[in-house]
Amino acid sequence: MKKTPPKNICLLGSTGSIGRQVLEVAGRRRDFRIVSMSAHSNTKLLTEQVRKFKPEKACITDPASFEKYAHLRAGAAKILPPDKLNSLCTDKKTDLVIAGSSGSSALIPILEALSKGKTVALANKEPIVMAGDILTAAAKKHGGKIIPVDSEHSAIFQCMEISKVPPEKIYITASGGAILTASGKKITPGFILAHPIWKMGKKITVDSSTGMNKGLEVIEAHHLFSMDFSRIKVLLHPKALIHGMIEFADGSVNAYLSMPDMKIPISYALYYPQKQKMRNLMNFTKLDMTLEKYPAGKFICFGLALDAGKKGGLYPAALVGANETAVKAFLDERIPFARIAPIIRKTLSETPKMRYNIPNVLRVEQWAKDRAEKLIK
Ligand code: NDP
Ligand code: MG
Repeated sequence: MKKTPPKNICLLGSTGSIGRQVLEVAGRRRDFRIVSMSAHSNTKLLTEQVRKFKPEKACITDPASFEKYAHLRAGAAKILPPDKLNSLCTDKKTDLVIAGSSGSSALIPILEALSKGKTVALANKEPIVMAGDILTAAAKKHGGKIIPVDSEHSAIFQCMEISKVPPEKIYITASGGAILTASGKKITPGFILAHPIWKMGKKITVDSSTGMNKGLEVIEAHHLFSMDFSRIKVLLHPKALIHGMIEFADGSVNAYLSMPDMKIPISYALYYPQKQKMRNLMNFTKLDMTLEKYPAGKFICFGLALDAGKKGGLYPAALVGANETAVKAFLDERIPFARIAPIIRKTLSETPKMRYNIPNVLRVEQWAKDRAEKLIK
C-alpha cells in the first residue's frame, strides 16, 4: 500500500497550553512534520522545542524577545522576526496551520492562510469572533477550510459531519469554571486560575469564570456553522463530558461525548477526517451527565458578549479588546474580579461607528484596549 506523506504543520503559539498539547500529539508522530512554529516571548521553551522538533523556521512575534533570541538560537531552524509570521502560514510547504496563539495576533495570518486555500485548525477564538464574516467569506472564496479545535465546536462540527439533515438548534455546554464554588470566598486570580476541569492558559481560564468564554464561543459558533443566535443554546454541565449537541426538527438529538481532554479535539483536527487511537477513554459507569440551565445572571460577561455578537459589525472587536485589558488588569491585581464586566460594558457603550473591514476591526480592538485601560486608571 502506498504510504501517505506526512502533513506539514505550521504551529502558531507553540509555547502555550494548546501549542504544547499539539506537540504532544503530533510532534513525534511520522504522520506529521512541524515545518514551522511561532512563539511570542517564551524563548527558553521555544529553544527546547526547536531542538526537539527541528522545524525549518521559527518566528518570534515579540520584537524584544526576537532581539534577545538572536544570541541564543539553537538547532538549524531559521529564526524569523515578527513581520515574517504571515509567510510561515502561506508557505507552499504548509499543509495545515494550527492557530494556537492567544488574542487577536493571528487574525491576519489566519486570513492570509485561508485566502491561499489552506486548512486552518482553529483553537484561537478571538480572530473569528472579531472578524468571522471576513474569515468565513475568504475561506469560501479561496477554498480554505476551518477545522474547529475549541472542544464545543469540534463536537458540533463532528455531529454535523455525520448527519444528513441540518439541525434546528445547536447546544454547547459550559463547565462554569472555579466561580461556581466561590460562595463566600475571596475571588483572587489564584482562586480563579484553579479551574476544576480544564488546564488552560490564564486568560481563557478567567474568561470561563466571567462567562466571557461562553459568550465568545456562541459568536464563534454563529460564524463557524452559519447559525442565527436564536438557534444556539448554552447549558451548564460542570463535568464537561458532553461538549455539544445538535437537535433536529423531530426532537431527536445527536450528542458528542468525550473526556475533557483538549488532546482529543486537537487529534481530530490533525488527523481529519480520520480518528487516531487515544488513551483517555470514557468510563461509562461513572458518568455524571447533569445538565442545567446556564445561570447567565452569574456570568455577566456572557450577556455582554451575546449582545455584542448580535449587534455585529465592530462591537465584537471592541468586546475582545476591552476584555483583554480588563482580564490582564485582574490578573495583575490592579482591579477586583467584579470590575471586569463594568469596564467592558462601559467600553462597549462607546464603540465607534465605522465601516466593518479588517483595518477598522484592528483599530477598534486597539481603541477598546486603550479605553478600558483609561477606565481602570
Ligand atoms: P496560552 O496563554 O497558554 O498561550 C498563548 C500562546 O500565544 C503562547 O504561545 C504565547 O507565546 C502566544 N502569544 C501570547 N501573546 C501573543 C502575541 N501578542 N502575539 C503572538 N503570540 C502570542 O493560551 P492557550 O493555549 O490557553 O489559548 C490559546 C488560544 O486557544 C486562545 O485563543 C484560547 O481562547 C483558545 N483555546 C484554548 C483552549 C485551552 O485548552 N487552552 C481551549 C479552547 C480554545 P509565549 O508563551 O511565548 O509568550
Ligand atoms: Mg471551549
